[in-house]
Amino acid sequence: MDLTAFAAEVGTDDPVTIAGLGTRDGAVAGVRCVSAPSGIEWIQADEMTVSCGAGTPVDELSAALAEVGQRTVLPAGGTVGGALAVGRSGIRRLGDGAVRDVLLQTHYVGADGVVVKAGGPTVKNVSGFDVCRLLVGSQGTIGFLGDVILRTRPIAPHSAWFTAATDDPMAVFAAVHRPVAVLWDGISVHVLLEGHHLDVAEQATRTGLVASDGPPTLPGGRHAVRPADVLAVTSGLRPGAFVAELGMGIVRADADAIPPTPVDPGVAAISRRVKEGFDPTGRLNPGRTA
Ligand SMILES: Cc1cc2nc3c(=O)[nH]c(=O)nc-3n(C[C@H](O)[C@H](O)[C@H](O)COP(=O)(O)OP(=O)(O)OC[C@H]3O[C@@H](n4cnc5c(N)ncnc54)[C@H](O)[C@@H]3O)c2cc1C
Repeated sequence: MDLTAFAAEVGTDDPVTIAGLGTRDGAVAGVRCVSAPSGIEWIQADEMTVSCGAGTPVDELSAALAEVGQRTVLPAGGTVGGALAVGRSGIRRLGDGAVRDVLLQTHYVGADGVVVKAGGPTVKNVSGFDVCRLLVGSQGTIGFLGDVILRTRPIAPHSAWFTAATDDPMAVFAAVHRPVAVLWDGISVHVLLEGHHLDVAEQATRTGLVASDGPPTLPGGRHAVRPADVLAVTSGLRPGAFVAELGMGIVRADADAIPPTPVDPGVAAISRRVKEGFDPTGRLNPGRTA
């Protein structure tokens, strides 16, 4: 994609912010705002890759990919760039992998207004620091994504949610083969299985799961804990007031339900140095933290 105009818009020295569809944090208030180019350049279904502008709405990308039996693991609702900059995986992470693993290549604009290429169309021909993974979840604080090449996934022939009341969710977790999601709300497990419909039905019967309409409603807050600590952490919460992603260490519960895990000072110092290294004057999304 020709990013000359986008790079010129980002400029070189005044504070600047970037917004996608504004469904999450959007632009930094009161700062000159730019938006990334939109549009799908190509789809290679046999390579499971797609190239598009970072300003492309994820729902538009999903519709185009569905025409060739593919899908993206990026969460719905916003732009490709916004989803990558936020870097949050959805409840399918157990089966799909993390959002940060789908960004293969990007051309981004740095704080100096220069277009930089990071990554490559295929994982194996990339050397040096993995800047793509650094950019995912960086909230636009170290570079503005212009265009990207993403890993796509095939759409499963059959996909269905199941549930079962249990007081031993880890036994269900251990019994199901390659689930896409196993959620626990303190009363029941909620399991997403995909594949050939006969295999899915056989698995559900074998593990005592019954068909359900879908996942439980997710509480607003999102807490990251060690996967091994999920049961201990949720044992202190009211059943039904949380939804834990087993195997992933994500617990959805009210914001104040679980005390935040303190950030290691060493990690905080490294993050500060990385930010200063990429954006010495702090002009990209000023005041925002990754
Ligand atoms: C209907 C709907 C369903 C949703 N479902 C899910 C879901 O299932 N799971 C889930 O996790 N989320 C979900 N979300 C949330 C949604 O995925 C995020 O809000 C979305 O990814 C943010 O994208 P955006 O374009 O709106 O970003 P914005 O809110 O505009 O921006 C978010 C951040 O990204 C930065 N940014 C934007 N574009 C770029 C760029 N090109 N380069 C660098 N930084 C950039 C912005 O500066 C800001 O810091 C849903 C939202 C909606 C509306």
